[in-house]
Amino acid sequence: MNTYARSAIAFERGEGVYLVDREGRRYLDFYAGIAVNSLGHAHPGLVEALQAQAAKLLHVANLYRIPEGERLAARLCERSFADVVFFCNSGAEALEGMIKLARRYHHVKGNPRKYRIVTCEGAFHGRTMTTISAANNPKYLDGFGPKVEGFDSVPFGNMNAVRGAIGEETAAILVEPIQGEGGIRPADLQFMRDLRAACDEFGLLLILDEVQCGNGRTGRMWAHEWAGIAPDAVATAKGIGGGFPLGAILATDEAASGMVPGVHGTTFGGNPLAMAAGNAVMDVLAAEGFLDGVDRVGRYLWRKLEALCQAHPGVFRSVRGAGLMLGLVCEGESGTVNAEVVSKLREHGLLTVGAGDNVVRLLPPLIIEDAHVDEALSILETVAGEIEETRDAA
Ligand SMILES: *Cc1c(COP(=O)(O)O)cnc(C)c1O
Repeated sequence: MNTYARSAIAFERGEGVYLVDREGRRYLDFYAGIAVNSLGHAHPGLVEALQAQAAKLLHVANLYRIPEGERLAARLCERSFADVVFFCNSGAEALEGMIKLARRYHHVKGNPRKYRIVTCEGAFHGRTMTTISAANNPKYLDGFGPKVEGFDSVPFGNMNAVRGAIGEETAAILVEPIQGEGGIRPADLQFMRDLRAACDEFGLLLILDEVQCGNGRTGRMWAHEWAGIAPDAVATAKGIGGGFPLGAILATDEAASGMVPGVHGTTFGGNPLAMAAGNAVMDVLAAEGFLDGVDRVGRYLWRKLEALCQAHPGVFRSVRGAGLMLGLVCEGESGTVNAEVVSKLREHGLLTVGAGDNVVRLLPPLIIEDAHVDEALSILETVAGEIEETRDAA
């Protein structure tokens, strides 16, 4: 179907932080399949794990125990607030399941009237009916009929509005610690702590969307760790499988108390091949010092981008985000449009992706080194210069 405005480029293979197209042209990958290819391309550990598993067993369905999945779940719990995990296939599916979890929690506690969820403007939670209703972005709702009921959207970061939206029927608060599609907008750490406090005060679940910002992307395993809080549940996907379609809901035993045999399920979710991918990614993320390395190279990239903004104030306004989830805010007042910057960067061999709020997103594989940052910055410099030149000529 004609659902994507695709570029004409077709990639043939990848090598670490580089992609090669069918004409043999090499590109530096600073979008990673939209924060998915966390280990870059053709990572030996991931390739070997998938090949070995494919030769043994692809799928058995959730009628039987899946030891590889039990192992990945245990490793995720060891590195998070969670006690239990549900595996699925995508971010939207993880969000759907987490919303069901929140409603079921209150149902089994004897409060079936509590089903509403407070969400934030500028959010993105996926493209299913429920997740577009939760995010409440008119662009994604247009033409799809009545919204799924039960979401109250408030301005992102506004604690008064959050408190004002909490009522007798509220079950949970759902937020991305860093809004991705919305334009790499990080929640204030104090806002995150205040959300936790409000949830405790009113007996609500704090449920987080870490589909994009989780799995080491910000230099910590989970973005909410920066705020020093523990949520009740997290939905994740994207980077968790390193390119293999994999999603997960992480939750405490208490939050998942309504999720008993028969109430939720998936045919493909957590199959042995997906679990092999997840474990291979976890091998890298859990390695001693790896996340510190993400934090360090992320700070290096941040400093370079700040200098870029200072050198080209008519093109770039500011940098925001955390770790290797960074947004370059384009200077809209001078007429700089993010889509044009993304396309010029691509012409010069650097792949990025746009986001809301006139932002160019930089989401490189988590395995990048300083030299890749330097290479990306030299292309960003060139493009900023070109934009200034065409403006001077006009
Ligand atoms: C990508 C994304 C989703 C949706 O994930 P899909 O795998 O595309 O369904 C949900 N939430 C956030 C924050 C995302 O970035």
